[in-house]
Amino acid sequence: MHAPRPSYRGRLAPSPTGLLHLGHARTFWLAAQRAGESGGELLLRNDDLDRDRCRPEFVDAMREDLAWLGLRWSEPMISQSARLPAHRAALERLHAAGLIFPCTRSRRDVLEAAGAPHEGGADDEPLYPPVFRPSAGWPLPNLGDIITANWRFRVPDGEEIAFTDARLGRQAAVAGRDFGDFLVWRRDGTPSYQLACAADDADFGITEVVRGEDLVRSTFRQLLLFRALGAPPPAYFHASLLRDERGTRLAKRHDALSLRALRAAGRTPSELIAGFAVDPT
Ligand code: GLU
Repeated sequence: MHAPRPSYRGRLAPSPTGLLHLGHARTFWLAAQRAGESGGELLLRNDDLDRDRCRPEFVDAMREDLAWLGLRWSEPMISQSARLPAHRAALERLHAAGLIFPCTRSRRDVLEAAGAPHEGGADDEPLYPPVFRPSAGWPLPNLGDIITANWRFRVPDGEEIAFTDARLGRQAAVAGRDFGDFLVWRRDGTPSYQLACAADDADFGITEVVRGEDLVRSTFRQLLLFRALGAPPPAYFHASLLRDERGTRLAKRHDALSLRALRAAGRTPSELIAGFAVDPT
């Protein structure tokens, strides 16, 4: 007999593009706290889809740093790069439902046509211009064994997508206005973060996603993907982001605040955790 599934299942999903810093540590510690309070399970997902930026040594470093901090997760770790068939299956489902289209425009075309920088910031997709989108009755080409085009999800224009965040309360965005047709697959053969993340959260039965609030806008897109994939969406807790003394969001370039550097400087996990516990959101 199978052991009963825990009713709470969370995940830690670092990207191995650099060393983890204090901001990651705080978000992951929160995720572990929330899983622990619910007697739940925590998975470790290695978000290693970006071939140019991900490096194996950062995978080892993140496991070691998370363990040093005292976090525990269920093994084995899941690597997104090993889940291509599952991601492709999700893409095929979207294709069969006619919810995606191939896009031959370059990032530059989209940026230029979108005009003003998008308020989501530099790491968010610009609003896809509706004039670039094929009309709804256009015959959809096959995906093909080898994907050579970017594929985008056709968002339901004008529909409000809403969810209740466990920290931020009700969050809402209007499709086609606050975010546009977004990438689900790249012509280099890799799924987009949005598709891989939603497919993985769905397949692994994640019940709550704890991550930084820079990803709130991605959540609206992922909610559309859950619906399209026929999977129940998880609950969400978006944590605030740590900033440096100048108010800039911590990033991997803040080497001095990497867990490695803090550890080398003699800081202990309990000291760091005591700091997180002062303002735990
Ligand atoms: N790997 C993503 C990141 O580090 C987080 C993905 C997620 O939590 O959904 O930004």
